[in-house]
Amino acid sequence: MIFELIADRLAAIGRAGLMRRRLAREGAQGPRIRVEGREYVAFCSNDYLGLANHPRVVEAAVVAARRHGIGQGASHLLSGHSAEHDRLESALAEFVRMPRALLFSSGYQANIGVITALAGPEDVVYSDALNHASLIDGVRLSRAQVVRYPHGDVDFLSRALASYGGGTRLVVTDGVFSMDGDIAPLPGLLDLCERHDALLVLDDAHGFGVLGPEGRGSPAYFSAQSPRLVYVGTLGKAAGVSGAFVAGAPDIVETVLQRARTYIYTTATPALLCAAVEASLQLIRDDEWRRERLRAHIGSLKRLLSDVEPRLGRSDTPIQPLVLGANARALDAAGALRERGILVPAIRPPTVPEGTARLRISLSAAHSEEDIARLTGALREACARGAEAHA
Ligand SMILES: *Cc1c(COP(=O)(O)O)cnc(C)c1O
Repeated sequence: MIFELIADRLAAIGRAGLMRRRLAREGAQGPRIRVEGREYVAFCSNDYLGLANHPRVVEAAVVAARRHGIGQGASHLLSGHSAEHDRLESALAEFVRMPRALLFSSGYQANIGVITALAGPEDVVYSDALNHASLIDGVRLSRAQVVRYPHGDVDFLSRALASYGGGTRLVVTDGVFSMDGDIAPLPGLLDLCERHDALLVLDDAHGFGVLGPEGRGSPAYFSAQSPRLVYVGTLGKAAGVSGAFVAGAPDIVETVLQRARTYIYTTATPALLCAAVEASLQLIRDDEWRRERLRAHIGSLKRLLSDVEPRLGRSDTPIQPLVLGANARALDAAGALRERGILVPAIRPPTVPEGTARLRISLSAAHSEEDIARLTGALREACARGAEAHA
């Protein structure tokens, strides 16, 4: 019976310690959230700059909703596209210093769209082993030949580019790796792309708004610019809204517009969100203090946990992983923190490799110094207890 088969498979997920549960947050996103009537300090959002509930962003959306309504009613290539989309695309291209940008409804769709638009069965994609699921799915859907290179290994990639060729070649990488927080070696990757006539598809979901001068992302962080760069920025993380964009050379962006099925066959993003992103972009650009505060929190967290085992991963970004190993250990630690009113997600396979379950701490400029101190105090206890329990 099909229902028994489905129930068996669900039970297997449970036995492996891989059942996922959603929290139903009450009220807006922020550093303190209510769940089932209890208040928690939360370290689980990607709202790095604290803009998801910013009054100016909210106001821009409300005003735009009154003017433009809510729904776009159609895809971009029918009647869903608007002057607001055009204006935001220009603003985003200007912000990341690229010739042209194209809006998508989500980063997931943007990544799948870019890779499938640029690569097909006759082409080769070189993909970092720790890339985000949306990049992996894009590569699979493209049916290109795949070379998966060890995480951040520029030498391996260099040899691979020298040995396998043919067709279009795409190197594909996260800018800031979403579960480890480390930054991709962009200058080295771009240099290889230059030497081997390849393009670099950079998914900067966690770099946009956070890294570089004015938050212009990981290319700005490295002062790296190249016509070979195909940049994907997402607008639901540091920008605090929703959606994504692809930026790059005009012909590349036009190819994505013409070919990406995740662009063509979906309803256009509401124009009211374009207005919200424009307001958010202004704050990202102007409020350097948000990034300074974020950097201060990252420094405090590392300092306060410098003598705690296990060590934090090597990350200078707001994503700070504490790798615990077994799924049960990560779940226990997250549970112990939750009892103390602190939410940190336990991340398990397949989101991370087998045996590397972890707590993924995400910091925000909206946190206070006291929030960080509370987190580190509770982590210290949870790690000590966990080491005993799992010894
Ligand atoms: C969140 C994320 C995405 C997906 O972006 P959405 O806009 O949430 O769909 C893509 N890549 C990375 C690395 C991410 O962390």
